[in-house]
Amino acid sequence: MDHFIYRDGILHAEDVPLADIASQVGTPFYCYSTATLTRHYQLFEAALDGLDHLICFAMKANSNLAVLRTLAQLGAGMDVVSGGEYRRARAAGVPGERIVFAGVGKTRAEMQLALEGGIRQFNVESEPELAALSEVATALGAEAPVAIRVNPDIDAGTHDKIATGRKEDKFGIPIARARHVYAAAARLPGIRVCGIDVHIGSQLTELAPFEAAYSRIADLTRELRADGHMIERLDLGGGLGIPYTASNEVPPLPAEYGALIKRTVGDLGCTVEIEPGRLIAGNAGLLVSSVIYRKIGAGRDFLILDSAMNDLGRPALYGAWHDIIPLTEPAPGADMEPVDVVGPVCESGDTFARQRPLPPLDAGDMVAFRSAGAYGAVMASEYNSRPLVPEVMVRGDQFAVIRPRPTFDEMLGRDTLPPWL
Ligand SMILES: *Cc1c(COP(=O)(O)O)cnc(C)c1O
Repeated sequence: MDHFIYRDGILHAEDVPLADIASQVGTPFYCYSTATLTRHYQLFEAALDGLDHLICFAMKANSNLAVLRTLAQLGAGMDVVSGGEYRRARAAGVPGERIVFAGVGKTRAEMQLALEGGIRQFNVESEPELAALSEVATALGAEAPVAIRVNPDIDAGTHDKIATGRKEDKFGIPIARARHVYAAAARLPGIRVCGIDVHIGSQLTELAPFEAAYSRIADLTRELRADGHMIERLDLGGGLGIPYTASNEVPPLPAEYGALIKRTVGDLGCTVEIEPGRLIAGNAGLLVSSVIYRKIGAGRDFLILDSAMNDLGRPALYGAWHDIIPLTEPAPGADMEPVDVVGPVCESGDTFARQRPLPPLDAGDMVAFRSAGAYGAVMASEYNSRPLVPEVMVRGDQFAVIRPRPTFDEMLGRDTLPPWL
């Protein structure tokens, strides 16, 4: 459920007509709903009620400071994957003890940043990383809290590019090597083992892969405890999928996911951490765009928008589907005609949808891409020298620009000429 609905035929974000935002900000722009972000966060809180837990928002899904602060004020922690994300989390007001640091390629500078600024735990993904972290922590006279990310060799059944828990994926330590690596970690100075971490992929639409992974983690917890390790925390990752279209199979609800967590690891006495990104932010955001032209092609019409693959990359990257709805509700029984929805970028890959049935739309009409709040703005670029798409946040009847569209002077000002030109 989200808070983007038609009222009297006009698409609103909460109590704000999106056309009002468009007239002030211009298109394209991303729009996020505070009520939807809050609701999704609270669904996870309710799902884990009764367990000692922390919900760490996977901020690679959406790292705007306003989004982070909205969630931080609800009590969320953050899952960061770079020094840049760590700095953003801190700037949004998230204390270090609520930040977990993931990623296969943490640099020593990033480790130092987090150790000096405060960190809940490093989710370590390899033995060389463990050795580097030990050196950095020892040099600082610090102790790094560590969970080791294990790769349980489970196929999450999702898109190949976002499956992370198979043995051929680059993530984590093979579960068969886990006892060996924990033993090595226990001998290293500056390292304090505190838990186990697992994340098997994104946009999962079934519970079975989670169930298989978490059962293996429960077994591993018992084995590692028998070996003498302190396993106080289980970081179970993110990945619960969202409905991108009403006709899709409906992914499991956070409540069912929470029940599964309680069933598989609930009796171990561990603090449970989860790292949802997409489910919190995805359906809390729209990308609003205008039609520039309707072009009649050979056997098909093209709807050419003012947004493109540089603004919303998921269709070009993953062949992803986003529902596209007009800002003015079509009359009941309006003729739906298939059109190709494309952007202005000079690549055929800049296609949002092929032969998508849409009501009659023409130049100047506005549309919204649904489910664009996660992996949308964060992946945007200035390809084709198109200004970075701005972001807007709504709360009730208020809205605010939370990242303005850059001016062309700002864009050009970032380049510098070498002395010989
Ligand atoms: C991407 C990622 C997540 C979030 O995945 P979602 O599908 O957005 O919930 C969580 N943890 C890690 C380690 C990730 O890389």
